[in-house]
Amino acid sequence: MTAVSAEPVPSMPAPVEEIADVLAAATAVTICCHTRPDADTIGSGLALGVALRRRGAAVQVSFPSPAQLPEPLAGLPGVDLLVAPEDVVGTDVVVTVDCASAERIGLLDKHFYAASTRIVIDHHVSNAGYGTVNLVDGDASCTAELILMVLDAMDVALDADLATCLYAGLVTDTGSFKWGGPQSHRTAARLLEAGVDGREWTRRLLDTHQFLWLTMVSKVLATAVLVPEAFDGAGLVYAVVDQVTAAGMSWEQAESVVDIVRTTAEAEVAVVFKETSPNRWSVSMRSKTQIDLVPVARAAGGGGHRHAAGFTSEGTVDEVVASFVATAV
Ligand code: MN
Repeated sequence: MTAVSAEPVPSMPAPVEEIADVLAAATAVTICCHTRPDADTIGSGLALGVALRRRGAAVQVSFPSPAQLPEPLAGLPGVDLLVAPEDVVGTDVVVTVDCASAERIGLLDKHFYAASTRIVIDHHVSNAGYGTVNLVDGDASCTAELILMVLDAMDVALDADLATCLYAGLVTDTGSFKWGGPQSHRTAARLLEAGVDGREWTRRLLDTHQFLWLTMVSKVLATAVLVPEAFDGAGLVYAVVDQVTAAGMSWEQAESVVDIVRTTAEAEVAVVFKETSPNRWSVSMRSKTQIDLVPVARAAGGGGHRHAAGFTSEGTVDEVVASFVATAV
C-alpha cells in the first residue's frame, strides 16, 4: 500500500525508533568513524555526537587512522569531540557510522565488540549488519541522511552546527548533488534552511586544492593513455600517479585525480594507478553507465560499487598497467 499525501514523508524503518530510544537513554556513547575518514563518516559522527552531548551524554568520537583529519574536516563543528583511538575509554553503547564492515574501524573494534549495544548506521549495500541494531539503507545517498532520521526521531532541533556536519556528508557523497535523488535535495533544503553556508562548505570540501596539486595533475594527465578497444569497444582511459609525483600530496588530494580522468568522452572506464609505496599500487576505477566494475575489482582481489571500485597490485608500473590492460581488452 502506498499512501499519497501532499508532503512526502520518508518512511521510518523500525531501527530508527529503536536507535533513538537507546541513544536518548544513554549517558555515555562512543561513536566510531572509518579509517581514512571522509566527510560523510566524520560529519555523521560529529552531528550525532554534538546532539548527544547537548542532551548531557558523555561522548567520544574517534577514527582509527591516520592521526590527523583531512584539512577541511578539521573545521567542522564538534571536532573537539574527537579523541585519538588509544584514548577511547569504551562505553555500553557504541555506534559505527558509514562503516560497511567492522574492519573499517580498525583497532576501535575492541570497544565495539565490548559494548552491550552495538549500533550500525550505514548506507553501503554490502553492509551485512554486524551490530546488535542495524540501520542500513543502501538507498540512502549518504549516512548523514540516516543520522538526520535518528535526530528527527529524538526530536532534536536542527541548528547550523548540526546541519553543517550533515551537509558535509550529503554534498560530498552525492558528488555535489550530481547523483542525489529527490530525498537528497529535500534534505539539502532542510539543512540550508537551518543555516548551513552551502557555498562556503562546497568550496572547502570539493573545490579547494593546494597549489602543488596543479603541478601533480599536470604530470599525471601527461601519462594518460586511451585504449578505445578495451571493454568491448566501450573504451578505457588510465593515468599513473607514481610516488615521486604524489610526494607532498595528501592521500585524498592524490585520489581526486580520477575525477578529472573519468571525464574522458571516449572511455566508459577510467582507471588511476597510484603508487602507495615502492612498487605497491592502489588502483581506482570508475565507470559511467554500462560496465559493472564489481567483477573486475573482485577478479583482482578488490571490491567496491558498480561504478566505483578498486584493488591493490604489486610490481613495476609497466607490469601492473600491462596486466590490467590485458584483462580489459
Ligand atoms: Mn558515505
